[in-house]
Amino acid sequence: MTTDQAIEFEHEHCAHNYHPLPVVIHEAHGAWVTDVEGRRYLDMLSAYSAINFGHGHPKLVAAAQEQLGLVTLTSRAFHNDRLGRFCADLARLTRHDAVLPMNSGAEGVETALKLSRKWGYEVKGVPVDQAEIIVCAGNFHGRTTTIVSFSDDPVAHDHYGPYTPGFVTVPYGDIDALAAAITPNTVAFLVEPIQGEAGVVLPPTGFLQAVRELCTERNVLFVADEIQAGLGRAGATFACDLVGVQPDVRILGKALGGGIVALSAVTANWDVLGVIQPGQHGSTFGGNPLAAAIGIAVIELLETGEVQERSRRLGEHALQVLRDAALPGIKEIRGSGLWWAIELDGTGRTGREVSLELLARGILAKDTHTWTIRFAPPLVVEESDLDHALATIIDVLTTPDATSDDY
Ligand SMILES: *Cc1c(COP(=O)(O)O)cnc(C)c1O
Repeated sequence: MTTDQAIEFEHEHCAHNYHPLPVVIHEAHGAWVTDVEGRRYLDMLSAYSAINFGHGHPKLVAAAQEQLGLVTLTSRAFHNDRLGRFCADLARLTRHDAVLPMNSGAEGVETALKLSRKWGYEVKGVPVDQAEIIVCAGNFHGRTTTIVSFSDDPVAHDHYGPYTPGFVTVPYGDIDALAAAITPNTVAFLVEPIQGEAGVVLPPTGFLQAVRELCTERNVLFVADEIQAGLGRAGATFACDLVGVQPDVRILGKALGGGIVALSAVTANWDVLGVIQPGQHGSTFGGNPLAAAIGIAVIELLETGEVQERSRRLGEHALQVLRDAALPGIKEIRGSGLWWAIELDGTGRTGREVSLELLARGILAKDTHTWTIRFAPPLVVEESDLDHALATIIDVLTTPDATSDDY
């Protein structure tokens, strides 16, 4: 099958809820993917950070293969011998008492929202159906009806009403606005420690520490959505670790399933997670032994700290190289770990146009919000491959008239 045939086939029978770049991937190993025509590309997106350990990591594939030969799904009607170990390992990694396993990231966020409300009614004593949850402008937490209810991105939000009530939005990084928005009915503050989809937006210095203090003082749960920022991506096990902050509730997903299965989790201490009793929440696939076995192997990869250190070191190097290049037409270059964004100044090519040029040069990256290109190579990327990618990015951004009209 050629690239054009595959794209046409998909276009005809698959809903148009995405606008992919015109490359059809057939195979991938480590940081490299190969398309149906045999062309190779360096993956600088990592499936939005779900591929932190590279494509087909041997240890993760081995864990999956071993479990495939044993048992893949039991449902939670019975126990399986992988789930307990997975939860114990993840609890240790997150320094929380316990774990509630789910599948997609959005399900993890929904779980955290339900948990926060239930904690609010049963522990904090908020009057029933009055709970408020504070969220940030520019947030991205997934695509369910409730989650898009508090998205301020019209593309994600519009025409999906009526919307779920009970959410209040404050500007990202504004501690005074957060303090002013808290009422006796506030049960949680839901925040990305670094906003991913918004374009790798870092909070102002001291913000997350101030959030921690404020939430403790006002008896509000600090819920950190680390689905994209966590598990090594930002240069530490969790982005909150970068500033020495421990949230009350942490949401993980994406890389937790090693890029092999959908696996998400909510972690917290028993004083919070203990409010959920049998039958009150669940999922048929949540906590399945295949995902749990892969999750155990993912956590094992993180426990030496090597991957995180690599992310931090190579990320600093990448930012330095890009900043030193003094690129024209750039509004800002920002990032943390092997996760950075180049925001164009809006006078020239769009993020998609640049992404298409990078594609033609063998680099996979994707635009976000028209003028920003986000980069997130697998954390196992070879330093020489990363340098090659940086040189290509610099070359594309310094060559003004290279817009390719081929696509
Ligand atoms: C990707 C993402 C989600 C949603 O995860 P899905 O698996 O796509 O449902 C939620 N929050 C953040 C911060 C994300 O990056």
